[in-house]
Amino acid sequence: MNFEISDDIRLIQKVAKEIAESFPPEYWMEKEEKNEFGTEFWKAISEAGFTGAVIPEEYGGSGMGLQELLTIMETLSSNGCGLAGVWYLMITEIFVGLPIARYGTESQKEKYLPKIASGEYEGCMALTEPVAGTNTLNISTIAEKEGDEYIINGSKIFISGIDRAKTMVLVARTTPREKAPRKTLGLSLFLVDLPNKAVSYSKIPKHGINYSNTCEVSINDLRVSEENILGPLDYGWYVLLDILNPERMGFSVGAVGTAELAIKTAVEYSRERRVFQDPIGSYQSLQHPLAEAYAHLQSAKLLTYKAAWLYDVKHKPPEDVKNGDAVMKKAMSYKEVGDTANMAKVVAVENAIKAVYWAMQVFGGYGYARETHVERWWREVNLLRLAPVTQQMALNYIAHHILGMPRSYR
Ligand SMILES: Cc1cc2nc3c(=O)[nH]c(=O)nc-3n(C[C@H](O)[C@H](O)[C@H](O)COP(=O)(O)OP(=O)(O)OC[C@H]3O[C@@H](n4cnc5c(N)ncnc54)[C@H](O)[C@@H]3O)c2cc1C
Repeated sequence: MNFEISDDIRLIQKVAKEIAESFPPEYWMEKEEKNEFGTEFWKAISEAGFTGAVIPEEYGGSGMGLQELLTIMETLSSNGCGLAGVWYLMITEIFVGLPIARYGTESQKEKYLPKIASGEYEGCMALTEPVAGTNTLNISTIAEKEGDEYIINGSKIFISGIDRAKTMVLVARTTPREKAPRKTLGLSLFLVDLPNKAVSYSKIPKHGINYSNTCEVSINDLRVSEENILGPLDYGWYVLLDILNPERMGFSVGAVGTAELAIKTAVEYSRERRVFQDPIGSYQSLQHPLAEAYAHLQSAKLLTYKAAWLYDVKHKPPEDVKNGDAVMKKAMSYKEVGDTANMAKVVAVENAIKAVYWAMQVFGGYGYARETHVERWWREVNLLRLAPVTQQMALNYIAHHILGMPRSYR
């Protein structure tokens, strides 16, 4: 085991910290309140090359791995951006750039990756459906073949960033569930160019993260060329795992970063604020929960970077990314990535909720006021119990797939 931080990582941390410091909590408070996208921030992270972190150099990126992308996200988050430090990179790089880099055909890579790397293209991923919810394999958006095209119909819910995206990874059923040889087969991933008149959406007013819109989506007779299938036909589930596991890791570092930001902010305030003789920071009732959350934050971090290391080093897609059986075999042989990502997500998120809760307590009544930012971070981290995977489903995964207990649902 080597825990030494490389010079490259130190440089990434330095640049990300400088950018985060120029987009402090006040910037995000304003964006949140105005329901406005952080255009200036997006420009800054694009110019720094962060939007191309996981994109190979030959397509305009810097050819780094998930470990480096997570470092960028965590550093932005912990140095003032909160969950915004991961959000935009999540919906463009992890949902779209990373899977195209790993599973795209040459022409898909040439078409999309340079524009994603430069920050010109934003992305989104449309998986969740109103009826299927957590039961992803039950989605009913259907893609029917006609000549060399697919005609897609269905509805999606909670699709973040679709209002700005130029590229959407759309998950649809290409073989009806009852005809698929196994229940994980029959789904395919489509790359869809947006805007498209066959794809309409409306914004869902929401509790937090209002510097990005999350939408309800309707898809009516959308025509997509078969050349736009990402990865193998009908084996989309196994490519999707390659998005969902990094998504869990990305939100874990978002939870870690936001927890660290809240703790630092609360500690600073606790040194100044006096209501009796000594600063409130001298009270153990405030010290211990923050100290505990800080220790848990460090362990969540280790687990998350371990998951990213496994993903970068051990879990490479097969040579032929259009060969469904090979993609499935590879995905199943690297169960450890999913195991570690789910455990990291559970630990990081529960701890972030505790950390931000205690930061709010430190601020007393002021913690409830918008101006101290903690209430916004509270709204942000609470999302992570519900998405990208609910804590219950992540625990179900651990109980069944790691501990070998009976599956609790059908
Ligand atoms: C702000 C926001 C942004 C999002 N962005 C995107 C996006 O960009 N793209 C996208 O595709 N999706 C997105 N999502 C969707 C998100 O991933 C889902 O909301 C999430 O997976 C939960 O699905 P659901 O809301 O349908 O809950 P449900 O599946 O209806 O679950 C409801 C409750 O039941 C529990 N439950 C369900 N089944 C079980 C079980 N077997 N055992 C124990 N408990 C169970 C769940 O844990 C949960 O507490 C977003 C959601 C939000 C809120």
